Amino acid sequence: MNWTADFPILAADENGNRLVYLDSAATTQHPMQVLNAVVDYYTKENANPHRGVYELAMRATDAHEGARHTVAQFFNAEDDEIVFTQNTTESLNLVAYSYGMNFLHEGDEIVISVAEHHSNMVPWQRVAKATGAKLVYMYPGENGRLTTEELDKKITPKTKVVAVAMVSNVLGLRAPVEEIVKRAHAVGAVVVLDCAQSAPHTPVDVKKLDVDFAACSAHKLYAPMGVGALYARAGLLEKMPPFMSGGDMIGAVHESGATWADGPRKFEAGTRNVGGEVGFAAAIDYMKGIGWEAMETHEHALLDRMLAGMRAMPWLTVYGEPVAEGRYGVVSFNVNDVHPHDVATILDAGGVAVRAGHHCAQPLMEFLGIGSCCRASVAIYNTPEDVDALLENLENVRKVMGL
Ligand code: PMP
Repeated sequence: MNWTADFPILAADENGNRLVYLDSAATTQHPMQVLNAVVDYYTKENANPHRGVYELAMRATDAHEGARHTVAQFFNAEDDEIVFTQNTTESLNLVAYSYGMNFLHEGDEIVISVAEHHSNMVPWQRVAKATGAKLVYMYPGENGRLTTEELDKKITPKTKVVAVAMVSNVLGLRAPVEEIVKRAHAVGAVVVLDCAQSAPHTPVDVKKLDVDFAACSAHKLYAPMGVGALYARAGLLEKMPPFMSGGDMIGAVHESGATWADGPRKFEAGTRNVGGEVGFAAAIDYMKGIGWEAMETHEHALLDRMLAGMRAMPWLTVYGEPVAEGRYGVVSFNVNDVHPHDVATILDAGGVAVRAGHHCAQPLMEFLGIGSCCRASVAIYNTPEDVDALLENLENVRKVMGL
């Protein structure tokens, strides 16, 4: 199957040139089905939800709450376990500030991996500094994967929070979530799962995984920017104080103080991005229409093809075990002795878009002994021809650089 036709931005121009977009880990493109849903919302249903009693405002409220239901089903969660946020970053900050700042103390430990995106690292650094808790880093083994020995060493009775990416945005490898949850829960710690890079590629069933929190961004799964979600296990949201306060998150306000709304609304202060939420739900429906099996098979084949090509390039280094098994979405690499920005610029001249930089994972770059790298990432709309274009243009980098 080829889904590219659903994505107008990827259509060839009048000269027949087509962008080979391999930066979906940064943000995905949107299918017409999602764009139409957003236009429909703004043409027919736009009003401020939870505010008015008139018909249109109620339709906007239904759109907002309907989108929450779709997101809840996506995670196999209950509707009142889903908080709408702006993105993964806000979801993770919400947990760090509302849970971490209030329930951690000196002597407690927060365990994260050195491979975390800054948005699952810097908030915990700040929590540690403010509460006196210790931030403990787990380090991947030779092949880029976390070992059970490392989990056993770092998750101890002092651990109160384990916060990890289900899939690293640099290494692309799936974390041993089940093993982490087993150890964390055995010592009474909560597990925060950063699903920014997993939710677009593989099911995140929060009940099956038994995680306490899960965060994702809609813009990485074919929906607009500016909306994300936080799953929080029922009961946890109840005991957490609000992160931000203002309109719509209150029960009642008096001169002497305020009480809070029930459920996720306690964490949804101010006017929401309902158009974005509608797009988020439409993107989930779009993905559902394709089905996980078809998506995973398609993307696995693309990664397999890309890695096979790269393994035949001895002048190129892939980070993390260079296999498609247990890998989702991304392949990070460097052309030896060539700056990644030069590589990305030469690739761009050939019509291939990849990301170059530290990928908001500077401690991982330090751990790998590099300053930055290139990252090629795939989504449902990529084709084997896209992968071949990358590989051909990498050959061109080798020639241009005289390697
Ligand atoms: N975590 C991971 C693993 C990511 O890849 C990203 C986005 N690059 C984020 C968190 C942050 O996502 P956002 O910028 O959408 O908040």
